[in-house]
Amino acid sequence: MGIVLEIIKIASESVPKDAPGAQIKQINLEIGKLSAIVPESLLFCFDIASKETPADGATLNIEVIPVMAECKDCGANWEITGPVFSCEKCESGSINILSGREMDIKSIEILN
Ligand SMILES: [Zn+2]
Repeated sequence: MGIVLEIIKIASESVPKDAPGAQIKQINLEIGKLSAIVPESLLFCFDIASKETPADGATLNIEVIPVMAECKDCGANWEITGPVFSCEKCESGSINILSGREMDIKSIEILN
């Protein structure tokens, strides 16, 4: 729920001060698979929390970012799809998570 309030706050602040009647049409989000955010519950909370804010009625677009890893030993790059966090090539457990933890607001579309 805290994340949703944060998104609404950022979106509301992006509405130009000289356009007080402006409505937020769409919010485009990127959410990493590892971020522990469930898109369905985010959408549900957004609907409730956005009432009577400039984001009321806005569409929340969620793009899920895959978990990408890099092996520190052999340099291989791959997408992690299961619970196994070891290198696909050399089976090393020494890996870097390159993406998948993020939660970014990519863009906000405002309707004047
Ligand atoms: Zn490796």
